[in-house]
Amino acid sequence: MKRNLIEDGINYLKYVRKNKGISVPSEYLKNIEIEIPDGKSGTIEMAAETHKKEYKDKLPGTNVVRDGGAVSLIKEDWMEVKNIPELDEKINKCSKCPLHSTRKNFVFGTGNPKADIMLIGEAPGAEEDNQGKPFVGRAGKLLTDILKAINLTREEVFICNILKCRPPENRNPLPEEIVRCEPYLLKQLELIKPKFILCLGTFAGQTMLRAKEPLGKMRGKFYNFNYSDLSAKLMVTYHPAALLRNPNWKRPTWEDVQLFRKEYDKEKEK
Ligand code: SF4
Repeated sequence: MKRNLIEDGINYLKYVRKNKGISVPSEYLKNIEIEIPDGKSGTIEMAAETHKKEYKDKLPGTNVVRDGGAVSLIKEDWMEVKNIPELDEKINKCSKCPLHSTRKNFVFGTGNPKADIMLIGEAPGAEEDNQGKPFVGRAGKLLTDILKAINLTREEVFICNILKCRPPENRNPLPEEIVRCEPYLLKQLELIKPKFILCLGTFAGQTMLRAKEPLGKMRGKFYNFNYSDLSAKLMVTYHPAALLRNPNWKRPTWEDVQLFRKEYDKEKEK
């Protein structure tokens, strides 16, 4: 039984590496093949479950649904936490990727830990790194205004990023950084259990959907996002920083968030 789970986990990681364009650090595979310490099988089961789910989700009748992306097969204590403040406490000293050495602050995310709506951006920028909070500065103010326009406050939703530490010079996150950091985001999703997810920007949309399409193709519609026992409606729209650079994108963003609000209201009426 245990051996099957291990093989399933290894196959899953190989599948991710081959088909998703994500390079899974090889030490994960080596660790498994060399030794499985006692008590670590829970995490292997998690990967195996995700692997099975991947095929289930390809059945007809579903929209684009991504796999969970569980890539760490070694059990770590943050994986067992039961609430958002505890998760922050357990992971905010993380040094799993080189970004820990250049960050000023770890940026966990802010807002309602039981929010119906989660907003996900790419990674902290300079101001976020300074303050340890997501979406502050000019782009953050614009995001607050966008939320206000659809009768939401920052306190009602939960706002975070795919990466919790700032990439130098705001460069795009690297695949190895995502592989190491994304499990934290998945844990946030698992604990918060939002009903709606709004991805801000190309990078967040592509990462969450495991897609390669440009933003113009991803935006304006809903996707089903299933992970663990979470089932949420996901939409992608422009990042507020992009709107500051190109005001022509304000109109499509406005259309997206209106649609988002309408669907959210429909869900609340149920
Ligand atoms: S970006 Fe993520 S994985 Fe890298 S050090 Fe920061 S928290 Fe850890």
